[in-house]
Amino acid sequence: MRPVYLDNNATTRTDPAVVEAMLPFFSEHFGNASSTHAFGEHVGEALKTARKQLQALLGAAFDHEIIYTSGGTEADSTAILSALETQEGRDEIVTSTVEHPAILTLVAHLEKTRGIKVHLIGVDNHGRLDVDAYARALSAKTAVASVMWANNETGTLFPVAELAEQAKAVGALFHTDAVQAVGKVAIDLKSTAIDMLSLSGHKLHGPKGIGALYVKKGVKFRPLIRGGHQERGRRGGTENVPGIIGLGAAADLALQHMDDERTRVKALRDRLEQGILQQVSNTLLNGDGENRLPNTANIAFEYLDGEAVLHNLNKAGVAASTGSACTSGSTEPSHVLRAMNLPSTALHGALRLSLSRENTGEDVDRVLEALPEIVTRLRAMSPAWLAREGADGAPAASHV
Ligand SMILES: *Cc1c(COP(=O)(O)O)cnc(C)c1O
Repeated sequence: MRPVYLDNNATTRTDPAVVEAMLPFFSEHFGNASSTHAFGEHVGEALKTARKQLQALLGAAFDHEIIYTSGGTEADSTAILSALETQEGRDEIVTSTVEHPAILTLVAHLEKTRGIKVHLIGVDNHGRLDVDAYARALSAKTAVASVMWANNETGTLFPVAELAEQAKAVGALFHTDAVQAVGKVAIDLKSTAIDMLSLSGHKLHGPKGIGALYVKKGVKFRPLIRGGHQERGRRGGTENVPGIIGLGAAADLALQHMDDERTRVKALRDRLEQGILQQVSNTLLNGDGENRLPNTANIAFEYLDGEAVLHNLNKAGVAASTGSACTSGSTEPSHVLRAMNLPSTALHGALRLSLSRENTGEDVDRVLEALPEIVTRLRAMSPAWLAREGADGAPAASHV
C-alpha cells in the first residue's frame, strides 16, 4: 500500500515542478551570477525572477528586502544577532516559550554568554500567547521582540501584526519566525510593522538548504556572514542558485495553491481531527481551535505514549510525528505542550498530523481506519489506562 505522509511540518516533498525548474541550473546554466560573461548573465536574470516570485508570496514592497540564507535556522540567528548589534543601548530580547529551537537555543546561549536579558512569554492551555505579559516585558531596553507566526507543533497562529505594532511603540525591532506560516496563510508584509521575517524552502515544497530573511527597507542590518558583495553585502558567499530558483518556483506554486490550502486541505484536516476525537475516548485537541494553520492537527491520547502510537502508525504505513522533529527520539515531552500545561495524563501522548496539498481523502480514511484500533490495543496494555479513574464501570470523562 502507498505510504501516507502526514509529517509536512517536519518537511515537505519537493514539488516535481520545483525540481524541474532547478535542474538546468546545475550543469547547463552553471555560471556564477557575479561573472560578467554570458554564463553569469543568464543566471543573474533567473535569480532576479526568483526573487520577484518570493517577493510576491510575502507581499514585500521591494525585492531587495529579501536576503537568501541556508534555511530557517540561519535566518533566525541572523535576525536576532543583527538586532542586538544595531539597537545600541538595548540588550533585552522578548520572545515566547513555544518558539522553535532555532530561536530558543540561540537566546539561551546569548543569555549565558553575553548577559542578554531574555523575557520568555508564556502561553495559555490553548497555546495562545499571554499578550499582557508581552506588553509588560517590552521597554526602552528591548532590542528585539521575536514571536513565531505559527507554531510548528500545534499550528496555533500568533497575532504578529499587533505584536509588531507594540514592539515598534517602544522603539524595538520585531522579528517573526514564519517558517510554518509562509505558503500556508496569506501574508502581506508591506501592510505590517514587521521588521524581519524568517522562512525556509523545505517547509513549502521547495528544496532543503535554502531559506530567506526579509528585512524591511530602512531597518538597520548587520550581516552574520561577511564576504563578497552577494545579497548587497548582507550575506557573503556564492549564491545557492538552484536553491534560490527552487524557492522561487515553490513560492509561485504556494500562491497558486493558497485557496486550496485554506479550503480543501483544511477540510481534510477537520475530517481527520473530528473523526479521531469522535472515535477515540480520552483525547484532547492541542492548540487554538480557531486561529490555527489549516494543515495541522495535534491530538493527545491520555494514558498513552505518543511514540508507541507513532511506531504502530508507521507499521500501518502512516508517517506522523509526536511534535518537533528535533526533539523526537527522546522521551521528554515537547516544550510546547509543557508550556501549555497539558494534564499530566496527556503530556506524553501527543500525535501531530500535518497535511499538505498532496494529501487526499483516501489518506484520511487510512488513518481513521488504523488509529482507533491502535489506541485500543495499546491502552489494553497500559497500566496507567487500566488504573485510571472511572475504569470500573463508569466511562472515563472526555476532555474534549
Ligand atoms: C523547520 C523550522 C525551522 C528551521 O528551518 P530550517 O530550514 O530547517 O533551518 C525554524 N522554525 C520553525 C518554526 C520551523 O518549523
